[in-house]
Amino acid sequence: MRTKEKKSKRRLIIPFCIILAIPVAWILITRLEGGKPSIKLDLLSQTTGASQELSISVADVKSGLRRVWIGLLQNGMETVLLEKDFPAKGLIVGGSKYEETFKVKIDPDKRGIKDGKAILRIVVCDFSWRQWFKGNRTYLEKNIIIDTKSPEIDIISRFHNISQGGACLVIYKLSEQCSRSGVYVEENFFPGHSGHFQDKNILMAFFALNYKQGPGTKIFVKAIDHAGNTSKAGFNYYIKRKVFKKDVINISDKFLNWKMPEFDIYTPQDSELTIKNKFLKVNRAIRKDSYNKLIKLVEKTDKVLYWDGVFLRLPKSANKAGFADNRVYKYKNKIIDRQIHLGIDLASIAHSPIPAANKGKVVFAGSIGIYGKTVIIDHGFGLQSMYAHLSSYNVEEKQMVSKGEIIGRTGITGLAGGDHLHYSILVHNTFVNPIEWWDKAWIKNNISSKINKAKEIEN
Ligand SMILES: [Zn+2]
Repeated sequence: MRTKEKKSKRRLIIPFCIILAIPVAWILITRLEGGKPSIKLDLLSQTTGASQELSISVADVKSGLRRVWIGLLQNGMETVLLEKDFPAKGLIVGGSKYEETFKVKIDPDKRGIKDGKAILRIVVCDFSWRQWFKGNRTYLEKNIIIDTKSPEIDIISRFHNISQGGACLVIYKLSEQCSRSGVYVEENFFPGHSGHFQDKNILMAFFALNYKQGPGTKIFVKAIDHAGNTSKAGFNYYIKRKVFKKDVINISDKFLNWKMPEFDIYTPQDSELTIKNKFLKVNRAIRKDSYNKLIKLVEKTDKVLYWDGVFLRLPKSANKAGFADNRVYKYKNKIIDRQIHLGIDLASIAHSPIPAANKGKVVFAGSIGIYGKTVIIDHGFGLQSMYAHLSSYNVEEKQMVSKGEIIGRTGITGLAGGDHLHYSILVHNTFVNPIEWWDKAWIKNNISSKINKAKEIEN
């Protein structure tokens, strides 16, 4: 009997052991996993300053995060930037957190870290039972440079006389290479570019006041270095107020019946609108849309001063409308709209050949809403000329054109009531008065003499 009992006990123990062994084995396999935690370090540049934050993402998909340690080693001294232990979910199940992103500020001043080289070190451990329950460990180190000094800005150009709606050039030297620098006209940023002078730290920034910005407009140079340190520098400038003309444009039914079908491609759903409301839509929404498209196009600019000397205007042409004319649109003797005319209208005989105002690269040749067939030439460093309402053009994008080369012919495409050339000059994203660029003395006093003086200083 006893032996029988023993046998049956044994029979029970064996399956019991097997049943027990399965989960134990499963726990051992999962808890002894060898997958290492991951570290992702986001550095904007190798150089880091006082204000920048390091973004460090850590993750461990299998066992979860146990510990994160971030330190900085400099001249044999170690500074702990961050230490964090994560709680376990339970004795057997592992960690409660599988990923986390830390924003770490080095704060050199507070921590007594000096400018210069340092090594950033990151250690992450997980909740695996490997390494005698210490977990899998990932270590990452990265050489960085601590830089807390702000860049110095030395304004080289001396005189800055700017008209409301006019352009200007400032030349400045930076004490170090910066990730971004240029001129702020209130909120509007005009980037400065190196490339014209042998010294890479000498930059030129063409900037402009729009037609509304008169005396009292705030202008300054700002620079941000690769470590995020920022400097501002003011400079001497004088702003001349300009009063622009008023102009009345009478809109007739004849004009509308002739012109509006051209815009049906932009507003096919508006076929029910009255012809007057269709015009208002074109003059407001499509005008705005055309402007936005144009501003996107002029972002492409080369860091080469392609142009030289005075800009050409359409030969034997009469001014039909001026820059920043305050236009009032009348329909059946009632004011229906107001817009600002941001170019000069030049009329000659119909289909007159148009010379490129100066040397440059074609950045656009195509149709843009109210402007109709349009060519835009980049003259470098953010300066561009625009030719609109053309009947035809014979240039293509990326083509280099020389001063005086025929690029197309005048016409009536877009929102034009008669054959003419709408001629605009843009500085970065701002329309400026083209008259300045037709004036030899203005170019000499405001642009070329500044560049020549800066070259003398450089040599
Ligand atoms: Zn015009």
